[in-house]
Amino acid sequence: MEMTKRQTAFRADYRTRIAGAYNGPFHVAVICAIGLATIWTCAQRIHGPTWLDWLVIPVTVVGANLFEWATHRYVMHRPVKGLMSVYRRHTLAHHQFFTEREPTIDSLRDFRIVFFPPYAQIAILMMILPAAAILFLAGAQNACWLLLCTAAGLYLNYELFHFCCHVKDDRLVRHIPLVNTIRRHHIAHHNQSIMMDTNMNLTYPFADWLFGTSDLDRGALGHLFNGYDGRFVKTNLKQARSTLDDPTAGRVRA
Ligand SMILES: [Zn+2]
Ligand SMILES: [Zn+2]
Repeated sequence: MEMTKRQTAFRADYRTRIAGAYNGPFHVAVICAIGLATIWTCAQRIHGPTWLDWLVIPVTVVGANLFEWATHRYVMHRPVKGLMSVYRRHTLAHHQFFTEREPTIDSLRDFRIVFFPPYAQIAILMMILPAAAILFLAGAQNACWLLLCTAAGLYLNYELFHFCCHVKDDRLVRHIPLVNTIRRHHIAHHNQSIMMDTNMNLTYPFADWLFGTSDLDRGALGHLFNGYDGRFVKTNLKQARSTLDDPTAGRVRA
């Protein structure tokens, strides 16, 4: 599918506004360094965790999935006072740069529109700190460090999976379970007529399945391992404007 004039123009303009000194691989290196340093520092403090401590991991995974869904739906797609920059960056830039017609990057400089700025990573880790502090003060030190490790790991997971949604060549990612699922799921989300309410997860489409905001009509496991399968795409999705001229909406190009 060819890009619309509007998308072509947006891309050209956006690229002229990326700072000359911007370096895509360096951006990714900073994100990895912050994430891995957090995991490394916290992991060293874990000593003989009990099963109750380990339970922090699944609880954090589910909590993060709901958080990712809610933040995407209610902050990244709605202008919220005080968080306008998030809305602008996502709805008014990311969604104009990538559409279901052309959802992929052309160069390393396009990393600028794919990965979050590192301050978002720091802000999210800061948001976990109060919960970690409560665990620590309650004497559950291992649980505290496990919480921080899991949160930092899930953030890297998010960035990696989202990147896999927007890479040009999918020869590899189309065969990786879970990654192929989120690529189809997220590219469908980039269809501007359904983006406000559909496919809000970026890692695993669990909350979308749970709250019925997925474009698929199938069970939880089927959702997680759907891959590129287009057979279960709903045909009655609520659309903001007609996409009758676009019969491939919701499907990744074969
Ligand atoms: Zn995206
Ligand atoms: Zn979005």
